[in-house]
Amino acid sequence: MFKKNSSVRLIKYYNLINHNLIYNNKAINRYKKENLEISEDKAKKLEYLKKTITNQKNCALKKQAKNIVFSDGNPKSQIMFVGEAPGANEDQEGLPFVGRAGILLDKMLEAINLDRKKVYISNIVNYRPPENRRPTDEEIKRYLPFITKHIEIINPKILVLLGSTAMNALIGNDIVISKMRGKWLEKKFGNCETSVIITFHPAFLMRQPAQKKMAWIDLKMIRDKLRNLKI
Ligand code: URA
Repeated sequence: MFKKNSSVRLIKYYNLINHNLIYNNKAINRYKKENLEISEDKAKKLEYLKKTITNQKNCALKKQAKNIVFSDGNPKSQIMFVGEAPGANEDQEGLPFVGRAGILLDKMLEAINLDRKKVYISNIVNYRPPENRRPTDEEIKRYLPFITKHIEIINPKILVLLGSTAMNALIGNDIVISKMRGKWLEKKFGNCETSVIITFHPAFLMRQPAQKKMAWIDLKMIRDKLRNLKI
């Protein structure tokens, strides 16, 4: 049964994480039917993580950004996507992958019968680097404990790393994406044991459309894994 107090807490939580799916009681009931309700424990942990990130002191990225970009999608999902960093559109809206790369990501998801209600999305760093530059090693080091904790809280069975920044940050620096993409790796992030796959970042695919055929191979691997795991 969905009690009134927990409903209020859930609304507060979704406001806090700028969740774009759930915006009033009616919507909560709608998504309850679609089984998007998350445990209070998970909601609290996500809320605490977001607060910890927003309360950071002396973070140049945070100082220059308009908004924190924490996540989008379904916190109950068993599949999580991690990108690099927010761009201008994401900074404006406070949501990941809402610009041109996001449109392509949505198409990639759709190609394997997924959408933002079925997946969870975040980034290695939660604030936009100025001029859309790549986050520096120092910035990645600062945000690595946050994304690691984020993965642990979501506890996905499948983790999709979009691009080399996410791959290098979470898997290792001495590897190249052309060799690592399209393979399943078993990894542990905190207490979360998950199957990881690396694929090309949608922004890279916009610059190098010939690589879309490789990304399609990766997407089919994800689709098959979802089937095998009965997700
Ligand atoms: N690129 C990313 O890596 N993340 C976003 O949220 C947007 C673009």
